[in-house]
Amino acid sequence: MSSSLTVAQHRAHLDQLRTETEAAIAILEATYEELDPAEAASDVGAGEDEGGSEGDLTRFERDRIRARIAEDNLFLEVIDAAKKRAETKDWKTCSRCGNPIGDARLEALPATDLCVVCKADRASW
Ligand SMILES: [Zn+2]
Repeated sequence: MSSSLTVAQHRAHLDQLRTETEAAIAILEATYEELDPAEAASDVGAGEDEGGSEGDLTRFERDRIRARIAEDNLFLEVIDAAKKRAETKDWKTCSRCGNPIGDARLEALPATDLCVVCKADRASW
């Protein structure tokens, strides 16, 4: 616990986070493609005709996945912004109050640019 976080370690964490997020997006996009609303709707056929509720469910699921993809793409931008910050001397400094973000916090949340106090103050990220 004695050694402090180096910028090289921090950059490696950000790269890893980016790779993981890209992989998550790829999985979501593949799942999205597999969920074909037209196909799900045609499966309903045999039972009672309730106006294709299964197709609606598939559409709901697709909307949910699309929202997740949008969120993850937004997160990629946050990661890229953090990578840019990692090229400056301010990468350990809270972008709002100027206090140190803290090594432990940066290690747990490499993409953050806020200290824990400012984060608690803001709705997202
Ligand atoms: Zn702060």
